[in-house]
Amino acid sequence: MSEMKAAAYLCSGCGIGERLDTARLSNIAKKEGKLALVREHPCLCSAEGVKAIRDDIANEAVTHVMIAACSRRAKTEAFQFPDTAVTRANLREGVIWAVADGPEHDEVRQEMADDYVRMACAELKKVKVPAGNPDAAGNRRILVVGGGVSGMTAALEAADTGYDVVLVEKTASLGGWGAKLWKRAPFKEPYAEPQPTGVAELAARVSAHPRIQVKLRCTVAETRGAPGRFSVSIAQESGTATTEEVGAIVQATGFTPYDISKLPELGGGANPHVIDQAGLESLARAAQGAPIRRADGKEVESVVFVQCAGQRDDSGAHLPYCSGHCCATSIKQAMYFKDANPDVDAVVLYSDLRVPGMGEDFYRSAQNKGVTFTKAKVAAVGVQGDACRVRFRDLILDEDAELDADLVVLATGQVPNAGVDIDLPEEKQVELKPISILNLAYRQGADLPQLKHGFTDSHFICFPYETRRTGIYAAGPVRRPMDMAQAIEDATGAALKAIQAVDNAAQGRAAHPRVGDLSFPIVRMEGCTQCKRCTVECPFGAIDEDEKRFPVFNESRCRRCGTCMGACPVRVISFENYSVDTVGAQIKAVDMPDEFSEKPRILVLACENDAYPALDMAGMRRRSYSAFVRVIPVRCLGSVNTIWITDALNGGWDGVMLLGCKKGDDYQCHFVKGSEMAADRMSKVDDTLKQLGLEVERVATHEVAITDIERVPQLIDGYAAKIKEIGLSPMKGFA
Ligand code: SF4
Ligand code: SF4
Repeated sequence: MSEMKAAAYLCSGCGIGERLDTARLSNIAKKEGKLALVREHPCLCSAEGVKAIRDDIANEAVTHVMIAACSRRAKTEAFQFPDTAVTRANLREGVIWAVADGPEHDEVRQEMADDYVRMACAELKKVKVPAGNPDAAGNRRILVVGGGVSGMTAALEAADTGYDVVLVEKTASLGGWGAKLWKRAPFKEPYAEPQPTGVAELAARVSAHPRIQVKLRCTVAETRGAPGRFSVSIAQESGTATTEEVGAIVQATGFTPYDISKLPELGGGANPHVIDQAGLESLARAAQGAPIRRADGKEVESVVFVQCAGQRDDSGAHLPYCSGHCCATSIKQAMYFKDANPDVDAVVLYSDLRVPGMGEDFYRSAQNKGVTFTKAKVAAVGVQGDACRVRFRDLILDEDAELDADLVVLATGQVPNAGVDIDLPEEKQVELKPISILNLAYRQGADLPQLKHGFTDSHFICFPYETRRTGIYAAGPVRRPMDMAQAIEDATGAALKAIQAVDNAAQGRAAHPRVGDLSFPIVRMEGCTQCKRCTVECPFGAIDEDEKRFPVFNESRCRRCGTCMGACPVRVISFENYSVDTVGAQIKAVDMPDEFSEKPRILVLACENDAYPALDMAGMRRRSYSAFVRVIPVRCLGSVNTIWITDALNGGWDGVMLLGCKKGDDYQCHFVKGSEMAADRMSKVDDTLKQLGLEVERVATHEVAITDIERVPQLIDGYAAKIKEIGLSPMKGFA
């Protein structure tokens, strides 16, 4: 490896030169930062400015570059220098746009810039260019588990893009629930009539595709490995097993309809003429467009659909959620009756009819065919002779009412086929005897982590297909309740993600959200105390254990969040370009004012995904905030090691703010559990503060969204005021 030669490049464009003394900054980079080469440029991101840096890399053997200009989030393409370590001092968004104008602020503005240059120089000395995952593997085959509409679509999308696919289906044929439908709700103009499902054609395309290998009557017996090198044992119904090597997995295992026998008050499981929507599809398929008959052969002359049966239930007895598709499904099924015989009485009893988008046209079409829609709350379904009697509260007339019908159809919900809920205690898992889908040979459990109600966990806004097991993607109703059109879209997205995963794994890069990141956790194993905190806290199951209980990192399962680094009590985990040292050096690099200065210093550790962009945007809007803060972006609050906090407080910082993403069930954390882990760790910092004789308010944690552009400066200013109130740190004198 070539010897380190570090250079600083200071930009005076975008108003930096007018508001800051750049000669003083250059001097700091040279004298304090001890960088070998320091240059100023009036517009560093211009072709000429970038060329100057490139020339130094080529001709002056510069290996490390510090750029003091705009935010690290700006001009990323211009300031990209392969094989060169780069750090950035944010003088534009973070200083000149964030500190109020006017000569009365000149001093603090300049001091802020001085510190950012010191910090970027200190960081530069500690970073290396990441070499990429040494364990990279390049298997590009994709395994799809589940042969329903979602699974078949994912398989076709991947295969049509040029990737080989193995599709495993546990039953004897492809199609899943889609194959059991008579028709589907309309998905194209004029959104007025039920449409052919197209499932048989889809299955035929899958079966005939040269890149897709279909394995029917098969299940996954075991999954080992990581993106690019999964080894999957496939068990056949016959008892034999084969092993398939694949690079990524799409789990499209669909749903099971909610069991209607759990709804005896609505006749479910008790009255043969009360069926669910799946039961009605099978009657409609048997009729093939002719009038629909019940199981006992009687032609149906009156039918009542009960919406939200066992759904949107807040009693805790049934499903609390809405399955989304069932209103349109009941409309479609009511049309089956009207299309075969317009004289059939078809009534839909609903409390809210949820038909978003073009579903409204479908609803109008059903009304035009004579389907009756009544806003009602159904109390019970009983037996009335050979028919059913439905008792309900009419919510428009506000009175109790009854309806007799030959057949009642309950719109029950979708229950995901997600496998073992690995978050349940083991005794509970044994009691429930859940059937595992993937049988992952991971230390953390056999299946994908679930969020709530049994659906696989995913970041529903930013990364809907990514589960908490890297390289394994969920598609269709196993991820959230959905209809066929949504499942097709979902499967297409999951297939794309699987393709990205195998391609990134082959290049030793992170797939997401740090796409292309070549760094990975490196452990100084001789210092490890086998405490297992990293293994337990890694949100993505990336760390196993060896027989001596040392952690075994699976680099291609890793998302590079740094949660393990934040967790490690002996600080033996690091990344080449992000470590306890790279941040620690920045914390120590600031010029700490003395105890008489009345200038507090507040360290802000800001999540790079939401809080740091929000701060940048505050700067863009010229929303100024306290010039006493120094912001360091972190990969995730989960990566914050408490040593940074104690070092900062021991070093005379007056306060530490942690700005991260929302935690909990509706989390926004890009690394799922990172902000939760950080909150847990920080809850224990109070004791340390007390031991140091410091007020607990000196460390504050806030949840921040990327849209909190106005709120973040308010939080900072509020905190600066708080620090003023409690006074400068007594540690200052000792620092
Ligand atoms: S905690 Fe994050 S950085 Fe550490 S191994 Fe897990 S995914 Fe990778
Ligand atoms: S957290 Fe650190 S000490 Fe504990 S097992 Fe992991 S590497 Fe070892």
